[in-house]
Amino acid sequence: MADTKQVISPFLGEHDHSHCEEQAMESALAECTKQGLKLTKVRQQVLEIIWAQHHPIGAYDVLQKLQQAGHKPAPPTAYRALEFLVSAKLIHRIESLNSYIGCPSPNANHQCQFYICTECEDIAEVNNTAVSDALRLSAQALGFESREPVIEVHGVCKRCLESA
Ligand SMILES: [Zn+2]
Ligand SMILES: [Zn+2]
Repeated sequence: MADTKQVISPFLGEHDHSHCEEQAMESALAECTKQGLKLTKVRQQVLEIIWAQHHPIGAYDVLQKLQQAGHKPAPPTAYRALEFLVSAKLIHRIESLNSYIGCPSPNANHQCQFYICTECEDIAEVNNTAVSDALRLSAQALGFESREPVIEVHGVCKRCLESA
């Protein structure tokens, strides 16, 4: 049976965001310790900025918010911090929006699919292993080594549909 886990569900009602931000920082720290990675100050600040909202945020906006908060890292430092967070899978890059979003269940090895609401820009991250397995098998049949499959589905979320 496929293991379908909806790890974030901004579409399914309200939640206490300050709590989820706190929890995200905790699990990010735990994951870094587990992976033997160092969450430097800049990396942590970037992660906090990304988690301070539920919407995807672009690299330039992250940089601006860092500066507004009184931090003055050189742009390459901030961009490298973003790259680090993506490779540690603490955040994900949403290719179709050219932006970033926090991962609610950071883990070195997970593949996910994104459902992106074009009305409110909320994003649901789903780990459906049936989808990732199907992609891997198709790649194998082609003799293709799949590295970073990107599944981003644009549409309208339940909340927006109901309030339309
Ligand atoms: Zn994730
Ligand atoms: Zn929506």
